[in-house]
Amino acid sequence: MGRQNLDALLVTNPENMRYISGFTGEGLLLISPGDACLVTDGRYQTQARLEAPDWMVLISKTLSSEALAEVCRERVLNRIGFEKNDVTYQKFERFQADFSGLDLRPVLGLVESLRLVKDVDEIAMIREAGVVAGAAFCYVIGHICSGQTEREIASRIDYFLRSRGDGPPAFETIVAAGERGAMPHGRATPDKIRSGQMVMMDFGACCQGYMSDITRTVCVGRFDDKQRRVYGVVLEAQLSALDRLRPGVIASQVDEVARQVITRAGFGDYFTHSLGHGVGLNIHEAPRLAPKQETVLEAGMITTVEPGVYIPGWGGVRIEDTVLVTETGCEILTPVAKDFMVL
Ligand code: ZN
Ligand code: ZN
Repeated sequence: MGRQNLDALLVTNPENMRYISGFTGEGLLLISPGDACLVTDGRYQTQARLEAPDWMVLISKTLSSEALAEVCRERVLNRIGFEKNDVTYQKFERFQADFSGLDLRPVLGLVESLRLVKDVDEIAMIREAGVVAGAAFCYVIGHICSGQTEREIASRIDYFLRSRGDGPPAFETIVAAGERGAMPHGRATPDKIRSGQMVMMDFGACCQGYMSDITRTVCVGRFDDKQRRVYGVVLEAQLSALDRLRPGVIASQVDEVARQVITRAGFGDYFTHSLGHGVGLNIHEAPRLAPKQETVLEAGMITTVEPGVYIPGWGGVRIEDTVLVTETGCEILTPVAKDFMVL
């Protein structure tokens, strides 16, 4: 805030609010060197005091920023930052009215930059979410057979994540079989799985708001040479990238390692997304492992490593783990088998 010449910052993004204050309800925050104020409405009165005990809690019927503007005027805080990637034009108009006479300034990524490197508590929660996701995979592979629908498999995964994790799955569980595997984000359908198809499953668990993200691709009944070959290429790409992942390495270099393996095998055109994304309170956050990403990786960052090959009319293979950058390399937080598997 000092570097950006701000007297105070309005935090409206729900995950940023949670990160800064612990509060998980609806509201908005004002932070200045001397103040930590939280505005919410009557529904969250008790929750706000429990979750954010050190914060001054203001109750407003309409969740209006007026009360915060009042605090700014009393404390002579003039330059007020707001999160421009979160504030709608409508919200902005309301801020302009409430903060009239004060200097509202759009800022980007202030809280996100703090969230980039996880502390020990955050790592512990993502590790727990990773263990639950790994256990969900071990559970579901005991129940997959031809004749089942993608939806049935997705439901089993979700049931496990809900009963063992805390809260709902981290995102809508992806189960895509056969040709549908060519869609990296295919939604589970009522289609039945047939022997000889590959099934791609992508899902994650939640632990106190912190998420994990894992993908495994398995064969059902039987397999052919091409399935085995593509799987081998994707696995080699993932292992090579993991081998490269450590502090001091530039994000794009890790992507490049995986991309080279897949390109050399002749499937470069079919690896259609970036290698990975940060995971935390959001399922997609910084840092991104992608071409042109110049972030220098640091111990405590958590990212996915998820190369994939998607061939239209054939299907797809993706292998994804959630990974912690450590002082000496990296640690997989979704530690379950990823050898070629035929169920
Ligand atoms: Zn995923
Ligand atoms: Zn992912």
